[in-house]
Amino acid sequence: MSFEKCYLQIINSLKGVEVVKDFPIGKYSRYKTGGYCDIAIFPKSEEEFKNAVSIVRGICPLEIVGAGTNLLVSDGGFQGAVILTEKMLSTKQSGNLYVAESGVKLSSVIRDLALNSLSGLEFAVGIPASVGGAVCMNAGCYGKSVGDYVRYVVTENGTLTKGDCEFGYRTSRFLKEKTAIIKVCFALNPSEPEVIEEKLKSYSNMRRNPKGKSCGSVFKNEGYFAGRVIDECGLKGYCKGGARVSEEHANFIIASDGATSQNIYDLIKTIKEKVYEKRQIVLSEELVYLGKF
Ligand SMILES: Cc1cc2nc3c(=O)[nH]c(=O)nc-3n(C[C@H](O)[C@H](O)[C@H](O)COP(=O)(O)OP(=O)(O)OC[C@H]3O[C@@H](n4cnc5c(N)ncnc54)[C@H](O)[C@@H]3O)c2cc1C
Repeated sequence: MSFEKCYLQIINSLKGVEVVKDFPIGKYSRYKTGGYCDIAIFPKSEEEFKNAVSIVRGICPLEIVGAGTNLLVSDGGFQGAVILTEKMLSTKQSGNLYVAESGVKLSSVIRDLALNSLSGLEFAVGIPASVGGAVCMNAGCYGKSVGDYVRYVVTENGTLTKGDCEFGYRTSRFLKEKTAIIKVCFALNPSEPEVIEEKLKSYSNMRRNPKGKSCGSVFKNEGYFAGRVIDECGLKGYCKGGARVSEEHANFIIASDGATSQNIYDLIKTIKEKVYEKRQIVLSEELVYLGKF
């Protein structure tokens, strides 16, 4: 089906939902590199989200984007539709359970939990994710992951309890199967406000994000620290066009203003080749590609 036909069919089927043609999804990503997607859809409610997913799946390729902090968007963009969750912002607390729609920022969940004396997710302070992205990636640090605190996830296909989410190190069933996460219920522990504040302060102090545009860690730590291995291969400061291995933390690639996604991709490829040559380690990406590379 031609792009125009897809667009018209989506517009006609999703009355009242914001749909944008030729959306600069690359600029939306944290790297701010890469091209456009044909169609961007901004649902504002569970019903609009479910409806959009089911309609688009029958028409053209679909991707879901949260805060765009772990994405590398192809310079050629993405031929298809992207559902952006940034307007899915409802939350509800009941006892030690907290339900957040997928577009809510993790930082805002953590703030809200602190105000309600609920503890658990403090370790994630400083991860710039949306709830959907954090659960899809099973984001984490300091040996803890967001999935540890999930009670259930409402998806395009129904509700999954934690045991069905297949959480693993920076992965989940949602990442493998590309299933849309609509909202998430977290189970927390009641705690004293001072104790939570203390934890937040100490985790914030531990965080050292290198300066500049990045997607966080590019590679997974799988039995080794990727940053240390890359550093030991002498690659700190190594560049491809406008993309550079951070001098502060070798698992971060920093994009300068003139960088392209191809520069970042080429640098990732070179790092993998050099690390394999010198250490026989096959690095695998934590960052997610959107579009063709
Ligand atoms: C400075 C910095 C520091 C970081 N530190 C950490 C860290 O300490 N630990 C860590 O784990 N990560 C870290 N990250 C990486 C990133 O923040 C996480 O991977 C985060 O979980 C991505 O969330 P997002 O909403 O930005 O997802 P996006 O980048 O938008 O998408 C990432 C993946 O999730 C999928 N996705 C997003 N929303 C949904 C949804 N509603 N339903 C289904 N799939 C969805 C996308 O399709 C894609 O596959 C860091 C990034 C930066 C820039």
